[in-house]
Amino acid sequence: MMIFPIFICPHQILPYCSSLRLSLNNRNYMRGLHTLLPEQLRHYCTSESVQTFTAGSLQKSAFGFVPSHRTVTEFDVKLLETFVAKSKRLFVLTGAGISTESGIPDYRSEVVGLYAKSKNRPIQYQDFLKSASLRQRYWARNSVGWPRFSSFEPNDCHKTFSHWEYFKKIHWLVTQNVDALHYKAGSHKVTELHGSAHRVVCLDCKFQMKRTELQEMIQEQNPSWKHRSEDIAPDGDVQLSEEQIQGFKVPCCPNCGGMLKPEIVFFGDNVARDVVDFVYSRLHECDAMLIAGSSLQVFSGYRYANAAKDMRIPLAIINIGPTRADKIADFKFDVRCGDILPKIKLS
Ligand SMILES: [Zn+2]
Repeated sequence: MMIFPIFICPHQILPYCSSLRLSLNNRNYMRGLHTLLPEQLRHYCTSESVQTFTAGSLQKSAFGFVPSHRTVTEFDVKLLETFVAKSKRLFVLTGAGISTESGIPDYRSEVVGLYAKSKNRPIQYQDFLKSASLRQRYWARNSVGWPRFSSFEPNDCHKTFSHWEYFKKIHWLVTQNVDALHYKAGSHKVTELHGSAHRVVCLDCKFQMKRTELQEMIQEQNPSWKHRSEDIAPDGDVQLSEEQIQGFKVPCCPNCGGMLKPEIVFFGDNVARDVVDFVYSRLHECDAMLIAGSSLQVFSGYRYANAAKDMRIPLAIINIGPTRADKIADFKFDVRCGDILPKIKLS
């Protein structure tokens, strides 16, 4: 079978193919890079090799929470490798799509995402503040999900980014995930945009504690309350019946008796302004942006893709399915993150 070649001509002409959703658009800020139209692409490429891409196509995922996706080709790898090689200070944004390969579902994927499989929705910030019964439900379910949620391990995507940071390829990484898997993989230059399920804060006195410490408190205060659940949400939430939740004693702040909340930005709340600005400042120090495993439906992450466009730096996206930033991206890889990221060799 023919292998699809990358054409780098003396004028740095790279291929474009709309049917493959791979493109290197001719933008003013990428002077010297020209766009080949599909007709020109066929001039260089046999129809057989084009079919390799279009029909190489959808396969059902072996990973339970990863949507169906096409296989990664050598062309994909070379294209992303070139993109990464050109960057000296890479900005990375990750979403739930990279943690699905660790066994954590995402919210929005077709068929396998939480929204597709369940009517369960994450708690709204205002509801958590207003309702004692909703807080009881939240913490009861969260405490059942915690042992499993806290045991998830980083996968090859997290390890690849940790490796890239070690070799100074990544200038900064921002994640929308609250699972702490980037830290577990050894990354340090990380901002958890939506907080972390591994930390708890008191809304009254700002006392902070580890989620593991809170679990011990919960068990001490609920010695005979024991339940299990198989399903788990991206934030560690599980399903329990109202009957099961009854009798659960909600933990209070050990410092002031106030209201405890995981240090997660709940739906309906906003990312703190200083965090938003800190990430902007890191992005402005970078020369390219890579988005991995996010459809960017939440504005908190999407704003940085727009900022990268304003900065006129190259933008690449790896995500199964459409994203909000597809139209402004220079490259789109509609593949599984763990199928391509570990194959990239740093030069
Ligand atoms: Zn307190």
